[in-house]
Amino acid sequence: RQNRLANLRFQTTSSSDGKHPILAANIGTLDDLQGAVENGAEGIGLFRTEFLYMDTNHLPTEDEQFKVYKQVLETMDHKPVIIRTADIGGDKDLPYLKVPKEDNPFLGYRAIRMSLDKPDIFRTQLRALLRASAFGKLSIMFPMITTINELQRAKTILNQERIKLIREKVPVKPVRVGIMVEVPAAAILADQFANEVDFMSIGTNDLIQYIMAADRGNRHVSYLYQPYNPAVLRLIKNIIDACHDNHLPAYMCGEMAGDQLAIPILVGMGLDEFSMNASSILKSRALIRRLDSREMVTLANKALTMASTSEEVVAFIHQALNDG
Ligand code: PEP
Ligand code: MG
Repeated sequence: RQNRLANLRFQTTSSSDGKHPILAANIGTLDDLQGAVENGAEGIGLFRTEFLYMDTNHLPTEDEQFKVYKQVLETMDHKPVIIRTADIGGDKDLPYLKVPKEDNPFLGYRAIRMSLDKPDIFRTQLRALLRASAFGKLSIMFPMITTINELQRAKTILNQERIKLIREKVPVKPVRVGIMVEVPAAAILADQFANEVDFMSIGTNDLIQYIMAADRGNRHVSYLYQPYNPAVLRLIKNIIDACHDNHLPAYMCGEMAGDQLAIPILVGMGLDEFSMNASSILKSRALIRRLDSREMVTLANKALTMASTSEEVVAFIHQALNDG
């Protein structure tokens, strides 16, 4: 079986009826990069840049960051790479930053909220990213976007840094700009956000906890953390449809994208890119090869309209996979 999977390394992903969703890797460090290449990732769908800030006793400098981003882009050899700006704040202890302790860190000061509040740190990261853009196919993604205003402010700062670099005669290539959709407010207003971005990537790890009001790390409420709950599925569908109505691609980089039970429904919803831990890529590619995307559309519609519980959705999925 391992051998059969290994043969899929250099193949593009294709459903049995010829649809080509992209299978990309999530990475958190440079060590993960090798795994992405070895498992046949068609791109990097999420580079969590937090480690640059966490595994150190000082704020990472522009040059330190530039070297890392450049290496990721060069290693991926012009395959698309999405780098997310820092998702740091309340729930992470950065000794050199003095982020105040909060009662509700997941509802607090983190990610883009902190970046917009500390523009010097944000600008340093954006400059490093823009400089690295010359070495591959870079997209920049903002985490935890909640309002259009936040997104516009982030984009304005990005543009200012681009103009500065161009004036300094530093080579920068055009980058695509996207948001993570992981806050229900953004998911509900996805059609409005679509006017402001080049792509969206659904962050189900946070989106599910915010939809279900259940801390993703609290075992006492883990029964509520339900990826297949129809409420979650309908909101995901809303995001994907908003993207497609506006001719944008819809990606997913939460754990759900690599979940073998969720993939059939997500294929049916028309998700364009699945970004996951590298170790899940080959088995997901093998799974998608067995799926007929038209049958998965039927499955997704059934789950979206006829199910009222997670269990019913799971039963529909098993039915569809066994029938297929
Ligand atoms: C997510 O929320 O789904 C996500 C990918 O971001 P993180 O897991 O880093 O919060
Ligand atoms: Mg998240």
